[in-house]
Amino acid sequence: MDGGLRYPFLDLGRVNERYAAQLKEACARVIDGGRYIGGDEVERFESELAAYCGVRHAVGVSNGLDALRLILRGYIEMGVMSPGDEVIYPANTYIATVLAITHNGLVPVPVEPDRVTMNLDSRLIERSVTSRTKAVVTVHLYGRPCYDAAMRDIAARHGLKIIEDNAQAIGASVDGRVTGSLGDAAAFSFYPTKNLGALGDGGVVTTDDDELASVVAALRNYGMTARDMNRYAGFNCRLDTIQAAMLSVKLSRLGEEIDRRRELAAIYDTMRNDMVTPADASCHGHVYHQYVVTVEDRRQRFIDYMAAHGVGTMVHYPVPPHRQPCYRGVIDAECPVAEYLADHVVSLPISPWCTSTDDARDIVDIINRYK
Ligand SMILES: *Cc1c(COP(=O)(O)O)cnc(C)c1O
Repeated sequence: MDGGLRYPFLDLGRVNERYAAQLKEACARVIDGGRYIGGDEVERFESELAAYCGVRHAVGVSNGLDALRLILRGYIEMGVMSPGDEVIYPANTYIATVLAITHNGLVPVPVEPDRVTMNLDSRLIERSVTSRTKAVVTVHLYGRPCYDAAMRDIAARHGLKIIEDNAQAIGASVDGRVTGSLGDAAAFSFYPTKNLGALGDGGVVTTDDDELASVVAALRNYGMTARDMNRYAGFNCRLDTIQAAMLSVKLSRLGEEIDRRRELAAIYDTMRNDMVTPADASCHGHVYHQYVVTVEDRRQRFIDYMAAHGVGTMVHYPVPPHRQPCYRGVIDAECPVAEYLADHVVSLPISPWCTSTDDARDIVDIINRYK
């Protein structure tokens, strides 16, 4: 993506190099074991992940989008919601959050993020609640947890489910409780670039709800509840054995990765330039999937300057879901804060083991010299 840059945005080969010996050993174990879908490796990873999050159930699935889709579909099968019901989501999220809602025939209702935290502004949720609202999907965007007492109170008062989109924030926490255990159910993605990345696609659903866990476990496997018994018209959304084995290796060392991301973020926090606003540093449970700055004026000029100095950057995300062609005429909303962010955000390199401490210091110097 930015070959040849002195400070590349992300180099997955470098990230996984660190675990190569253990990953190869785990691959060999799966190859020799003769079981390639489900089995002990998947069950082991599910119980490790449930323990990591402090929840009763973790159900391995094919990817993060499917994790979200199966949670919503599970609630539909349980009679908690039905097609046509409304689901609130943050207007500046990645499009997968919204695809999961519309794929289930549910109606996506965007709510603005806070301009500083860039996360769903819980003070704005209630004005969008109607008699058809059934859930809030809170997205821990960029690795910053988005959950508070106000959100919990609104959900309790209106009988809404809180579903966490935890694709970017495994290991993040609010008052010592980790994301994935905060709401009624949570979806994780193990896409290779995520903080816990597989060597392919993967995902998980976590919940303390016994019924939802068993419905999701059936839905991922054709809706089968017992041999030759299909209670639901389900899907094929299973987690591969080999990916579960890769994920167990990497989960055991996730803490080091998070520490490293926080060290790099602390260096970025020291940048001083009136034209570039650093990420808000007030959240201690942040795991910095991305370190996102805002550039008030002429973002492309800043991006070009960074590239000319060898720094790879990315924009997460330049087009909010409600502005995508697929949602024209479907989501009819004005979201000036989300649109402002789409036009002004820039993500800096923060990949552990790919960006060094010295690299981050150099990048701060480069930003400080930007005129
Ligand atoms: C990556 C991501 C997803 C989708 O995960 P996949 O595993 O790629 O399907 C969903 N929501 C958010 C916020 C994401 O960043």
